[in-house]
Amino acid sequence: MKDSAKISRPYRVEKGDRFRLRDFDPDDTGGLDHDKKSAATLLKTGVERITELQDKLYAQDQRALLLIFQAMDAAGKDGTIEHVMSGVNPQGCQVYSFKAPSSEELDHDFLWRTTKALPERGRIGIFNRSYYEEVLVVRVHPEILARQRVPPELVTKRIWKERFEDIAALERYVTRNGIAVVKFFLHVSKKEQKKRFLERLDQPEKNWKFAIADAEERKHWDSYMAAYEDAIRATATPWAPWYVVPADNKWFTRLVVGAAVIEALEDMNLAYPKVDEAKKVELEKTRKALLAE
Ligand code: ATP
Ligand code: MG
Repeated sequence: MKDSAKISRPYRVEKGDRFRLRDFDPDDTGGLDHDKKSAATLLKTGVERITELQDKLYAQDQRALLLIFQAMDAAGKDGTIEHVMSGVNPQGCQVYSFKAPSSEELDHDFLWRTTKALPERGRIGIFNRSYYEEVLVVRVHPEILARQRVPPELVTKRIWKERFEDIAALERYVTRNGIAVVKFFLHVSKKEQKKRFLERLDQPEKNWKFAIADAEERKHWDSYMAAYEDAIRATATPWAPWYVVPADNKWFTRLVVGAAVIEALEDMNLAYPKVDEAKKVELEKTRKALLAE
């Protein structure tokens, strides 16, 4: 097994039926015990590999990669995206952050706004939050569902199961179109979240990151965990796997996510487009002409 696969495999979930969140430890570091410097070196190697692979993805212009990030607040989504994608050519990468829906978005079906943002061929698309919010925050807060104006007869107790089916169907559909889907749940512990919230409150330069609402959501921790577990159980597949990434140690979170991105890209067997004989002849002619100028 490749090094990258060794790091990320233990956290990959591609069959939901036996999945239990409590089997995954947020503080796990995969037996690695890294000082900051060696973790940074490992991550740097990973970032370089992603850069090479993305260049081929872009040149080949056939496939795309969709990376979905879901997590509780302060689990490190933003920092992970920033570090793991730091080597990627911005032209080949699109990041979308999905917040509470606008009134225009609320006027549509729940997969509308994210479907519009799916990555083009040759690109890496990143969803910072996604349609999974529709079975997470919306499930934890039924009043949000009420605002969606779904016809009442369609809102039954089966609604979450139906949304899981719709999400799974969408993911099947996009993968059949050459868009690979990889989903990350950055799994932070309640204790570590408290620590990070306190840092945001204690350090003036981090105050901006703290939203009063985040502390409010923390009160619903158990409901969120139940919703995450259910969502992962229902939507983990070999073609659109979840990674339940330990998120209490940021360096390890980044390593695992980086490794999973490398795996997804390596699975594509990417190659630069081949130049045919006729074009080679033309290139050679042009070279000679330039030299003779
Ligand atoms: P950060 O806090 O790191 O800046 P964030 O992703 O938490 O990033 P916020 O603007 O704080 O961004 O929060 C976005 C909020 O929007 C979250 O509370 C999320 O649950 C909510 N949200 C996202 N999608 C939906 C949705 N479809 N319906 C309702 N709420 C949603
Ligand atoms: Mg937030």
